[in-house]
Amino acid sequence: MKISLISKLPLFLAAGVLSFACQPKKESAPEAPMTPAPAKATDIHSNADPQEARVKHLHWKAAVDFEQQVIRATATWEIEAAADADLITFDTKGLTIEKVQTDNDTTAEYRLSEPDAILGQALAVLIQPTTKTVTIHYRTNPGAEALQWLSPQQTAGKKHPFLFTQSQAILARSWVPCQDSPGIRFTYDAEVTVPPALLALMSASNPETRNKTGVYTFEMKQPIPSYLLALAVGDVSFKSISPRSGIYAEPSVVGKAAWEFADLEKMIAGAEELYGPYQWERYDVLVLPPSFPFGGMENPRLTFATPTILSGDRSLTSLIAHELAHSWSGNLVTNATWNDFWLNEGFTVYFETRIMEKLYGRDYAEMLASLNLQDLKSEIQSLSDDGHPADTKLKLNLASRNPDDGVTAIAYNKGYFFLRTIEEMNGREKFDRFVKDYFTQNAFKVMTTEAFIPFIRDYYQKQYNITLNDTLFEEWIYGEGLPNSCSQPKSIRFDAVDAAMTKWKEGQKIEALTKPWTTHEWLHFINHLPDSLTPSQLKDVDALGHFTASGNAEILAAWGVIAIHNQYTPAYAKIEDFLIHTGRRKFLMPIYTEFIKTAEGKAQAQAIYAKARPNYHFVAVNSLDKLLGPP
Ligand SMILES: [Zn+2]
Repeated sequence: MKISLISKLPLFLAAGVLSFACQPKKESAPEAPMTPAPAKATDIHSNADPQEARVKHLHWKAAVDFEQQVIRATATWEIEAAADADLITFDTKGLTIEKVQTDNDTTAEYRLSEPDAILGQALAVLIQPTTKTVTIHYRTNPGAEALQWLSPQQTAGKKHPFLFTQSQAILARSWVPCQDSPGIRFTYDAEVTVPPALLALMSASNPETRNKTGVYTFEMKQPIPSYLLALAVGDVSFKSISPRSGIYAEPSVVGKAAWEFADLEKMIAGAEELYGPYQWERYDVLVLPPSFPFGGMENPRLTFATPTILSGDRSLTSLIAHELAHSWSGNLVTNATWNDFWLNEGFTVYFETRIMEKLYGRDYAEMLASLNLQDLKSEIQSLSDDGHPADTKLKLNLASRNPDDGVTAIAYNKGYFFLRTIEEMNGREKFDRFVKDYFTQNAFKVMTTEAFIPFIRDYYQKQYNITLNDTLFEEWIYGEGLPNSCSQPKSIRFDAVDAAMTKWKEGQKIEALTKPWTTHEWLHFINHLPDSLTPSQLKDVDALGHFTASGNAEILAAWGVIAIHNQYTPAYAKIEDFLIHTGRRKFLMPIYTEFIKTAEGKAQAQAIYAKARPNYHFVAVNSLDKLLGPP
């Protein structure tokens, strides 16, 4: 018996579990007959001990109950145990465990630890080294953090309810008992029963049409970490884009979404030309109702996306390029722990920008990069102002914290500029060869920051006889803020916007635009407006860019901050409507943050939040409760 593990599990909660049989530990135990865990890093956000026993395959049988807002399920895990193993430990959060079986035994002994606010409860099951399967009968609870149950009113169609999951970072444990660490991969199959009027989809092989029984089966043959487990259930239809890609969305949205993402196949082909074959067979996109808290989630084979990218002019599709890029960076080569999150996101932003450059040209990609640099600089400023300068390092330390605290522009955009800086130091051709080999050689494996550094250094040394010096890694990965070596994007189109802005600041009118500005040019313009504006200036720029009337979520969110900062009340009704009907945290946080800078604004923000909160996902509520106080 592993004393250290037992000490983590102080309570016996299961009836009939009085003792675990102790086996004397063999001092010279032979090497475990299991695949060694590739990540040496310990994951502080999981109770699992994969060195003792780890999961290999999940068979999940579940029924989705919209009335009770619960999922009743059995999770049968195929496992692999070390020669001296006597326990397997799973992560759970808020699950009601009904029964546990090992192999063909009718009951197995198990216990649950005391709940931890962030990590939930460890579920330890007594096993033999020869145990092949562990079956857990359980149900979720209505407050399960990964699950968002939408009423018909919260959908576009207004007739049927909708359910979707968001497992990243450590919420999979709130709907499936699992070893919830990005360093542990498994394959899965599932059988899910839903109301017959609805379609079920997972991060797996998916149906394209509804069937009368409401029973759907799924298979995921490629091993994934638990944060990529995903389920959605709703009145959803499908529209094909190419033989290997298509769009799922509510019937009234699917046509618009398919038009918006018409270049999907070109993106996949472009990505493959850059960094090697797409390894997941199909690539589909599910457009969710508006309360989805993120822009997108890279669930394998089936990206979940916010409807806020349906701008009607295809100007926000870089988000799809981003989620697609995750099929390599993140889903194929995975951060070993959430402290290494920049490896997932920095590579993905780099790859996303390259896909956009390949499809739409260098100047388009440079606009994206310039906006990223603006976001990065303001994130560094605000993290430093808020007393968290250590969070501006790429390598994070999230001990005792929710890994969601690491979801800032640092992992994404500082990660991007670090990689771009290496690219520019020694040339794109060399860097591209490196990235392709990095993905190929580490496919379906995990990566720590500490393993990445020697990997890239050895690669450059052996392949090109180039020494990447220590300072580069020291200042970018372990240093705070933005290093001086940061590469600078150059956008001719933004230069033109800057010139127009200068004239306008000098009191001249901005001429009628000869070529209409794109979303990105307008965002750059809004980002560079003076800090304080007079009522007539606000009216002028609003008339010029039609910001308050805009249907584009990026524009509205950026303009909303300016409007609140300058108390431009003509925009307030639109801002309130936007906050109530959008659940994407990236847009919510800056607007609410701007509101609470004044006492009057804070009261307004709290009144809006009281109305909007029921529409938001746990992930957004968790951040906003901290900002505004729970209602
Ligand atoms: Zn991402």
